[in-house]
Amino acid sequence: MKRTPAARARGISKYYGNLVALDGVDLDVEPGQVHGLVGPNGAGKTTLLGLLLGVATADAGTLEILGRPVGRPLAIADGVAGFVDGPGLYPSLTARQNLTAVASLRGIRSGRPHHVDTALEQAGLTDVADVRVRGYSLGMRQRLGLAAALLTRPHLLILDEPSNGLDPDGTRHVHRLINELTDAGVAVVLSSHRMDDLASLCAEVTILVTGRVVFAGPVEKLAAESGELDYRLQTS
Ligand code: ATP
Repeated sequence: MKRTPAARARGISKYYGNLVALDGVDLDVEPGQVHGLVGPNGAGKTTLLGLLLGVATADAGTLEILGRPVGRPLAIADGVAGFVDGPGLYPSLTARQNLTAVASLRGIRSGRPHHVDTALEQAGLTDVADVRVRGYSLGMRQRLGLAAALLTRPHLLILDEPSNGLDPDGTRHVHRLINELTDAGVAVVLSSHRMDDLASLCAEVTILVTGRVVFAGPVEKLAAESGELDYRLQTS
């Protein structure tokens, strides 16, 4: 039986005034896979993530999230979670308080504190759950942001540069968490500039350059075609 794609975009375009941020983009994201969005600055990665999160709408094309057509801004779409531009935490609250606040803002019943405990455990933050977030390293904040996203038990998780600024240990921890999620069937779309994210996390990769797809396919194919791709990147 064919599984419902986590996300399917056809011919998506997005304009900011005269600027074409996305130009006829197709995207296929399967359940249980990490799909990497790669490209130079200004390629349109964050714009596409925003569309998948429902914080903006496309000017042309069609987008389906978890089998449902998306034609207007979503509140917090059922089944989709994530963050762009940093995890948005309260530094003077503890990790547990941050997650409790997220849970209550998102209408997750406070009578289910085990959700918060489970998310803290998944992120490896149980031991520091009652420490204020202002004392956290970047890696710990990133993991807490992931834990906040996980509270809604998403089927599709959208992440903007999840390993950015992390040391090798922090990167390993975030990678492990993402792998655990995909093992559980969650689809992850992430943007990244980092080759180690692509090599160790992504099954599929879409490369954007100035709003257009210049490569889409399995990460192994990317390695095989890298010479051809360099050429296309230079000439596009
Ligand atoms: P980076 O890696 O630098 O974050 P990106 O690939 O995420 O880049 P976007 O942030 O999606 O690219 O930007 C795509 C294009 O759209 C850029 O030219 C950017 O300047 C422009 N852009 C993005 N958001 C807006 C906005 N709100 N208003 C006007 N232009 C915007």
